[in-house]
Amino acid sequence: MIIQKSTAPRISEFDPENFSFGNMFTDHMVICEYEDGKWGEVKLMPYGPLPFTPAMMGVNYGQACFEGMKAYKDKDSQVFIFRPEKNFSRINKSASRLAMPEIPAEVFLEGLKALVDLDRDWIPYGEGNSLYIRPLIFATEEALKARISNKYMFAIVATPAKSYYSAPVSVKISDYYSRAANGGVGFAKAAGNYAASFYPTQLANEEGYEQIIWTDDSTHEYFEESGTMNVFVRINDTIYTPPTSEKILDGVTRDSFIQLANKRGIELKVEPISVKSVIEAHKNGTLKEIWGVGTAVVTTVFKAIGYQGEKLELPQLPLEESFALTLQKDLVDLQTNVAEDPFGWRV
Ligand code: PMP
Repeated sequence: MIIQKSTAPRISEFDPENFSFGNMFTDHMVICEYEDGKWGEVKLMPYGPLPFTPAMMGVNYGQACFEGMKAYKDKDSQVFIFRPEKNFSRINKSASRLAMPEIPAEVFLEGLKALVDLDRDWIPYGEGNSLYIRPLIFATEEALKARISNKYMFAIVATPAKSYYSAPVSVKISDYYSRAANGGVGFAKAAGNYAASFYPTQLANEEGYEQIIWTDDSTHEYFEESGTMNVFVRINDTIYTPPTSEKILDGVTRDSFIQLANKRGIELKVEPISVKSVIEAHKNGTLKEIWGVGTAVVTTVFKAIGYQGEKLELPQLPLEESFALTLQKDLVDLQTNVAEDPFGWRV
């Protein structure tokens, strides 16, 4: 690895008590370039702009994918990355589906650890605080040809993140737009999946909903995901979540919630969730909670669901009664080394 440290670090400008998420980046970044059929040497270098041309294939044809993961600091200033091997295997699944070269483990994991170690002062300590890490791969060949690129860049950048707390949201069950299709790229963190979701989300926002519950593209009768999160529904004391598929992202938080629910002995079924069953459960009073999970906020609880012009209010349970909030707390305590880690998830 080539290490070039910043000669003008900005860490002194970073106020862990007062910052906004997502637009302040740590002093360094990782880059690694792919050319002539192989990945080159990993560079850990000062964060900053890179020279590209508008004829770069990645921005014209969307051959780009990314990951989202976090590092945490405990009370003794020890630093942990959460389940990085899951993100490593997922970025390679995304890359393969987009006909991009897979990244070797040493490039991804060693680059990641070196960056987090060097920029560890940027990780804010305290409940809900973390460092959000964004690994990505994009096509860099300069050519206006709609084909597989011959050149790529792998990069990792990081931005401090705070509070998991996300106010309960209203979500709209989609009966027209889709996030993913059979045979498509829904399971991949393809950049284009996000671009395609912005317009329908904007329409939902205009109707007063913060997010969309994406349903299957052929019938719109089954839940798939919510916004950029995996979705869980609790009816009576059983939790349901749809099985992952080629249309559903295999979320790290989803998998962690399933294992934590099992550990607590909460009944959890991985099976398709029909819109009809959720509406029925709401009518007969057995629908207790619906929530989304993902790395960014861990859990977002839903306060209302909109379906075909009707808005159904959901009960808001306190921590002691809520499976969503209880499992969120279990996970956050594990991530931040407040609780033991029987799974070996902290690295
Ligand atoms: N679904 C989609 C579409 C996402 O973008 C994300 C965020 N990566 C998730 C689910 C949640 O995945 P994870 O728990 O790995 O962050």
